[in-house]
Amino acid sequence: MHRMPIVVGNWKMNKSPREAVDFVGELVGRVRDFDSVEKAVAPTSLALPGVSRTLQGTQLLVAAQNAHWEAAGAFTGQVSADMLRGLAQFVILGHSEARAYLAETDANVNRKAKAVLAAGMQPIIAVGESLAQNEAGETIDFVRGQVSAALDGISADDMARVVIAYEPIWAIGTGKSATSEQADSTIGAALRDTLRELYDDNIADNTRIQYGGSVKPGNMAEFMAQPNIDGALVGGASLNVHDFAALVEIAATVKGS
Ligand code: PEP
Repeated sequence: MHRMPIVVGNWKMNKSPREAVDFVGELVGRVRDFDSVEKAVAPTSLALPGVSRTLQGTQLLVAAQNAHWEAAGAFTGQVSADMLRGLAQFVILGHSEARAYLAETDANVNRKAKAVLAAGMQPIIAVGESLAQNEAGETIDFVRGQVSAALDGISADDMARVVIAYEPIWAIGTGKSATSEQADSTIGAALRDTLRELYDDNIADNTRIQYGGSVKPGNMAEFMAQPNIDGALVGGASLNVHDFAALVEIAATVKGS
């Protein structure tokens, strides 16, 4: 079984369309040699057309940061999965910031994941517990619940295109990462075991699961050395070209075939 590592930079509400195009123009050459790693940047929606045009024909892929499940309609401020066709290969769903600030629910993450798959893209479904849940020993049950709800009704065939990101909320943007052993064991117990129950061994063993939460060049190798971790979803460190390129290089060195 080989799972291709995947490193995705989530830029959140950073970089203007011009800055985003300049950034990927520089990054693409620096990550070109690491083709054992899949890599993508997730700019704001506004920057998607320029970034995807710049990266056309390259191996640096594009992710959107969210998508609505309806194709079109009265949903002020939203962008539909249908509208992202051709602009992105991946769509991040269920990010903890969307859950916290935009009232994202498990049910909506599930509707969105189906819409993203139907539009021919790959959802990156983010799950993870709060500090209070972690301290109360509720991590496994909580994350199992999130992932089961997000995947409700998604076929075994479609699972080949689903990526999951385990991101403990207390580790996002805080500089405080989970230990690599903690992350690995939660991914094994809360995610791969749930996939085994919901689907089968094949899907549990072949689904790509990233870790996210204060990943940077200094700790990337530890995470990549863990057997259950297939890459990283990265916020802060992905905003810097040198750091982003270093993360891809480390993933290729530690995980590359
Ligand atoms: C994220 O936004 O998904 C994230 C993990 O952020 P950071 O790397 O800054 O903790």
